[in-house]
Amino acid sequence: MENREFHQAEISNIIEINPMVKRFFLKFSHDIIFQSGQFVIIDFGKLNHTYSTRSYSIADISHGNTIELCVSLKQDGAATPLLFNSKVGDQLKVSIPQGRFVLPDVLETENIGFICTGTGVAPFRAMIKDLLEYRKYTGKVYLFFGCRTQIDILYREEFEELQNKYSNFHYTPVLSRESWSGANGYVHKHYEGIFKDKPNAIIYLCGWTNMIKETRDNLKTFGYTRSEIKVEFYD
Ligand SMILES: Cc1cc2nc3c(=O)[nH]c(=O)nc-3n(C[C@H](O)[C@H](O)[C@H](O)COP(=O)(O)OP(=O)(O)OC[C@H]3O[C@@H](n4cnc5c(N)ncnc54)[C@H](O)[C@@H]3O)c2cc1C
Repeated sequence: MENREFHQAEISNIIEINPMVKRFFLKFSHDIIFQSGQFVIIDFGKLNHTYSTRSYSIADISHGNTIELCVSLKQDGAATPLLFNSKVGDQLKVSIPQGRFVLPDVLETENIGFICTGTGVAPFRAMIKDLLEYRKYTGKVYLFFGCRTQIDILYREEFEELQNKYSNFHYTPVLSRESWSGANGYVHKHYEGIFKDKPNAIIYLCGWTNMIKETRDNLKTFGYTRSEIKVEFYD
């Protein structure tokens, strides 16, 4: 159930990651309390007679009165071209954080997997930082991030730094349209190497429907049940 309490937020910073993806920092007049993995809804008002709200995952752990979103431009979309034309200082109408795509209160599994494509990595950035930096989770954390080319690898340096710092964090960006020294092809053959024998795990999937459904079907054939697979669809 969506929570329809909205507040004004000011765009306090915008950082371009690549021509199709920007980080938006939204500042509220009060501190924002949320769980890593949650999203907010932006009400854009009139969108050429279409549905006026769009949801965006919070892409970082808590920073007082400011949250970060990571948004990809859909050129023929109604909302994202508006957002990409916005400037620092512009005001947005933003809901309170919501959603049940969050980490368990008690971390019982020995492994936690995150599998995504594109800006589906946004909630995982928050969840992984939460797990490693705040909750001091000592089980294994896997991130499989499907991208087309190296320019599409979002937050690359940060994940590489986390991997250097935490020996239990295993980061695998996978490129489908560029050969490089790292993992190639689609994400599926890479997470299979870890999850095929069904180690004790909870696995989060985020992004567009096709990738999520295919991955969920694969994980079920490995023996994972619905309660062990958490999904957030972006479309
Ligand atoms: C929980 C959640 C979290 C998300 N997080 C992110 C994120 O972190 N980063 C990111 O880039 N994207 C995210 N998205 C996708 C985002 O909400 C938009 O779909 C995307 O930005 C494209 O918006 P658009 O208006 O440009 O495209 P459009 O094609 O105009 O609209 C895209 C979507 O808006 C919805 N919509 C449009 N019209 C209607 C209607 N009449 N009735 C009901 N629904 C309608 C549909 O879901 C549609 O797929 C998330 C989506 C969800 C559901």
